[in-house]
Amino acid sequence: MSIPSICYKAKSYYSRQLTVAPPNLPDSHFPIPPQSGVTPSGSPMARRQVLQFPDPRLKQVSQPVAEITDEIRQLAAEMCEIMYDEPGIGLAAPQVGEALRLFVIDTEWAEEEDAERHPQVMINPEFIAREGRVTWEEGCLSVPNFRADVERAAHVKIRALDIDGKEIIEEADDLRAVCLQHETDHLDGILFIDRISRLKRGIYVKKLKKQLAVEAEE
Ligand SMILES: [Zn+2]
Repeated sequence: MSIPSICYKAKSYYSRQLTVAPPNLPDSHFPIPPQSGVTPSGSPMARRQVLQFPDPRLKQVSQPVAEITDEIRQLAAEMCEIMYDEPGIGLAAPQVGEALRLFVIDTEWAEEEDAERHPQVMINPEFIAREGRVTWEEGCLSVPNFRADVERAAHVKIRALDIDGKEIIEEADDLRAVCLQHETDHLDGILFIDRISRLKRGIYVKKLKKQLAVEAEE
């Protein structure tokens, strides 16, 4: 059995032009205003793009969500849509250019069509406990074509608000614990490549620079 990685991405992101289809989410938690995805003129609005390293916005420390407004609900719904579409198992607001302490996660979801989806929105998350150590191979939608082993806490207890503003306290192990830490890191401007050896990170950055230079010439 292969181990799923965080934010696992199968498709190339660079060349995709994303436009919004009406959100079709399985979870009734996300009331979508009727104008969602459509500009006042009625034309489809471009969907948020997943920012990629080395975009400086990924390094920002995000601000707490002060109030769960319709905009926040709409952002969460759009982030779920992007997460499933990429596909990934977690996506944090700063990855789509919103410096807010919010992420979406679905660690049970499989990539198969019609697979059951259980998106969880976590707002203003905070770890109450972290124990043990586990090493997991991680990837990230914002760090294309790269995966590496990262050491993190094996068991965590996290407190957050859900999309209705209700407090959630969750204990998690293994992949779920890793994913919760990976996504919370995004809210503090930390990418998984900031948690690997400088040597490994250096190899990735060098490869990426070369690739970006080739793309610029084309
Ligand atoms: Zn990520």
